[in-house]
Amino acid sequence: MSFDSEPMSGSRNKVHKGHIDYRLSRNLVVNEVRSGRLSRLEVCDAQSELLRVANNYGNPTKEDCPICEQEKTVLVSFVFGSGLPAKGRSITSPFELSSFSLKRGNFTCYVIEVCQSCSWNHLVRSFRVGDH
Ligand SMILES: [Zn+2]
Repeated sequence: MSFDSEPMSGSRNKVHKGHIDYRLSRNLVVNEVRSGRLSRLEVCDAQSELLRVANNYGNPTKEDCPICEQEKTVLVSFVFGSGLPAKGRSITSPFELSSFSLKRGNFTCYVIEVCQSCSWNHLVRSFRVGDH
């Protein structure tokens, strides 16, 4: 195994293979709340563990919470995969995430938008990491 930077696959970004963007479904949910078809209670349901991770390790964004508009949202990342707890492992630094790209195995990183004011949370994107 070598650490040559560019794999032969032609993938432009080794770290972000299998990228899936969930913005569309996130915006649909936001629109449903704004139009009254969904209640805030149904979407502002972040578990205490998620809020704790958001508080300790969340990456601040410049975006207002789409639901309460009281606070900027933060992004939290969880990695799921071989050898990790079933509830995933929260990522506390960019270094920690990049370390997964050198590990053997299949890992998927999920990035979740969280509002610490109203507990809004939604998946923003996911991508594969790891040395498959
Ligand atoms: Zn909010």
